[in-house]
Amino acid sequence: MPAQANVLAFRRRLLRWFRRHGRPLPWRATRDPYRVLVAEFMLQQTQVPRVLQYYERFLRQYPSLETLARAAPGTVREAWDGLGYYARARNLRRLAQGIVKHHDGQVPADPDVLVRLPGVGPYTAAAVATFAYEHRVIPVDTNIARVLHRAFGVSRTRTRHLPGRVARLVDGLLPHDGKTTWALNQALMDLGAMVCTARKPRCRECPVRNACMRKGVRGEE
Ligand code: SF4
Repeated sequence: MPAQANVLAFRRRLLRWFRRHGRPLPWRATRDPYRVLVAEFMLQQTQVPRVLQYYERFLRQYPSLETLARAAPGTVREAWDGLGYYARARNLRRLAQGIVKHHDGQVPADPDVLVRLPGVGPYTAAAVATFAYEHRVIPVDTNIARVLHRAFGVSRTRTRHLPGRVARLVDGLLPHDGKTTWALNQALMDLGAMVCTARKPRCRECPVRNACMRKGVRGEE
């Protein structure tokens, strides 16, 4: 288990790097839960550059949860054309209908409620909770699991109920306020996508190099 001072140094360096180098993605410019939800559904099995081609167009066609809930399944399928994995479009429409009917049209903020909605797994529930509502939770996807594994030597996990050791690490890593948690989670995503990549991590350029436990990394210049 890394020392808390190390965890805090990691967080500080990562946040500083994110302020300068974070990607200006359109779903980061909003806390509208519907817009965040659409982005998270699109990102479930599709890379960011491709989602960027479809995200705004879809939102122009369906600017609110209500418009999506009222739409015919075929037109939603057409709007999703090119993104693939069409079950996501089907689930998103069903989810919109369920939220209109059972939640007064308000996307739930509680990950435990979100996870019971169609097409929403533990990751998406945590992502919507933190990116729309600034909840203090880390959405552990493949990228973030890899970063935590390399930086802190913890076993990879994608489960919502994190095993004790990882939960303690996550707790130490989480800032006390939701706004900084939001930034930390976005920063972890960007670090995993741009620097701590799956095949060839760019350790020499990594902003958290001096707080990373990966073997040999700290000595590299
Ligand atoms: S130093 Fe290397 S292994 Fe550690 S977080 Fe950065 S890129 Fe990943």
